[in-house]
Amino acid sequence: MLWQLKKKETGALSIHTENIFPIIKKWLYSQHDIFLRELVSNAVDAINKRKYADEGFKAEDMKIEIKLDKSKKTLQIIDSGIGMTADEIKKYINQIAFSGAEEFVNKFKDVQSNIIGHFGLGFYSSFMVADKVTIDSLSYADGSEPAFWECDGSTEYSMSVGKRKEVGTTITVYFNAENEDYARDEKIKEILERYCNFMPVPISYDGKQINQTEALWNRKPKDVKDEEYIEFYKQVFHDYKDPVFWIHLNVDFPFNLKGILYFPKLRNEPEFFKGEVKLFCNNVFVADNLEDLIPEFLLLLKGGIDIPDIPLNVSRSFLQNDSQVKKISKYIIKKGIRPFQRNLQRRPQKV
Ligand code: ADP
Repeated sequence: MLWQLKKKETGALSIHTENIFPIIKKWLYSQHDIFLRELVSNAVDAINKRKYADEGFKAEDMKIEIKLDKSKKTLQIIDSGIGMTADEIKKYINQIAFSGAEEFVNKFKDVQSNIIGHFGLGFYSSFMVADKVTIDSLSYADGSEPAFWECDGSTEYSMSVGKRKEVGTTITVYFNAENEDYARDEKIKEILERYCNFMPVPISYDGKQINQTEALWNRKPKDVKDEEYIEFYKQVFHDYKDPVFWIHLNVDFPFNLKGILYFPKLRNEPEFFKGEVKLFCNNVFVADNLEDLIPEFLLLLKGGIDIPDIPLNVSRSFLQNDSQVKKISKYIIKKGIRPFQRNLQRRPQKV
C-alpha cells in the first residue's frame, strides 16, 4: 500500500556523527561543480527507469529542464522521469542518503585511497553549494500523490504533500551565500556543457537544448562519415578550422575504451598548444587534466575518451598508480604516434 502524506511530517535524519554536511563541504571543497552533474545524472537515470516501466512514455516527453532564478538564487532540475513516492523518498533519500556519516566517510575514504569502484556523490553533493534543497516529485506508480521534501543542511528534514501535476521530479537548490556565484547564466551553461554534453537525454536551459545527446565515439568507426567527424570536432572544441586527421579508438579487450583523438591544424596561437582531451565515464564527464594518461608530446591533441571502468571521482594519484590506467596510457601512445610513423615512412629518403 502506498504511504500517504496526510499532513506535514517532520523527522530526524538517522546519522551517527553530529552532522554530515560540514564533512561534505570540507572534503569536497575543490569540486563544487559536480553537484550539477550528480543531479542531472539522477534525472537521466529516472528517465531511463520510466522508459522501462511506461510503454506510453513518448520520446518527446523524455527531457530535462534546468531553470535558474537569478533573483531568488535558486536552480531547478526538472525531469519527466519515474518520480518518487513519499515512501521512496523516505527510503532513498532519508535512509540511504543519510544512512550515516560513518558509512559515508568510510566510502569516501575508499575513493581517496584509490580503491576502484564507482561511487557517485549523488544527491548529497548539492549541499556543498546550498543551504536548502527541496524535492517535489510525482511517481509514475498508480494512485500516487505528489510528495515534497525539504532539508536545510542540518540533520532535520520535513515532508508534506507536493505540487507536481505531471509525473517526474523537480529538485530546487537554494544557493548559499558563499556560492551565489552559481546564480549566473554563463556559470550554469559552462558546467552543463562541461559535464553533461553527452548525456543521452535532451537537457534544456533557457528553453534551448544545450547538450548533444550522442558522443560520436560511441558509434562504430565504419558507420561514421568524414563530414561527421569534422562537424563533431568543430562543435565540441569550438575550432573553426578542420582537424588534420583523427583516430577513432574502439576496444573492449583487455580494457573497455572508446574515443576519438583529433590532430588540430598547426598554427601560431597560444590556444593551440593547450590541447584538450576529455575523459568520460559512460558519457559523463570526469576530467580533462590528463597529463598522467596522455604524455606531454601528445597533449596538443583534442578529443574525448570514454572509459566505463574508471571511477567517477578519479584522483591524480589514481591516474598515476593504477595498472589498468598504465595499460590504457600505453595503448593511447601507440595509437597516437602511429600516424606519424606512417608519414615518416612515406617521406622520400635522403641519399
Ligand atoms: P545514487 O544516484 O548514487 O543512487 P543518490 O543519493 O544520488 O545516489 O540518489 C539516491 C536515490 O534517490 C537514487 O538511487 C534514486 O532512486 C533516487 N533519486 C534521486 N534523484 C531522483 C530523481 N530525479 N528521480 C527519481 N529518483 C531519484
